[in-house]
Amino acid sequence: MQTCAILLAAGQGKRMQSEVAKQYLVLRERPVLYYSLKAFEDAEMIDSIVLVVGEGEHEAVMEKIVTPYGFTKVRAVVTGGKERYISVYNGLQAVTGDYVFIHDGARPMVDCEMIRRAYEGVKKERAIVVGMPVKDTIKIADEEGYIKETPRRETLWAVQTPQVFETELVRSAYQALMDDEQRRTGGKMAVTDDAMVVEAYSGVKVKLVEGSYENIKITTPEDMQIMDVFAAGREF
Ligand code: C5P
Repeated sequence: MQTCAILLAAGQGKRMQSEVAKQYLVLRERPVLYYSLKAFEDAEMIDSIVLVVGEGEHEAVMEKIVTPYGFTKVRAVVTGGKERYISVYNGLQAVTGDYVFIHDGARPMVDCEMIRRAYEGVKKERAIVVGMPVKDTIKIADEEGYIKETPRRETLWAVQTPQVFETELVRSAYQALMDDEQRRTGGKMAVTDDAMVVEAYSGVKVKLVEGSYENIKITTPEDMQIMDVFAAGREF
């Protein structure tokens, strides 16, 4: 079985209020993107990596990260799109192999054990998402900010990445999404993860697998401080 990882690093990270996109911020003397690249490079079940970067960032990512740190599995660097799902779609065009791991480059705390759990899962289930049960009570609110509903907490998971699929399954789901988008006029699609594309455009059920409470996505400035604490306790 051949496997490929798509590492997404084409976001601008507007919520970080920083000049530098979050995947290139420095965490313990290394760029954030280094950490997830390292995890997939070290994971023996991963054969190749497709990096998705912003327009005009190809050379910089090769010169500042891939080459100096000696990553050998990167087989393509492709340009992302305006929205995450377009970046994933572009990445999928460069993927080869039976299974694809889609991962946010802004989640540096992914590790080989999590990648292994997801791999074992996808071989059985075809579609896997890592995540953790939520700790807070979650409310559904209406547009005026009044609570409409309180779902039972035991049923709620916060999903993370990697999200792992049979390549052809996720590729055809994304193709259907893009065809659908072209048929619609105006407005971007509210696609926030890959599982929802597979849920919407295939009959395959997506299985949850344990991620970790440290596998958070760097989104707002305080996340870098939290990451610094997590990174201090590990070897890279
Ligand atoms: O914006 P968000 O926090 O959801 O981004 C999650 C991941 O997707 C990040 O690693 C980011 O670089 C990537 N992304 C992308 N292309 C976009 C938007 C986000 O590759 N247009």
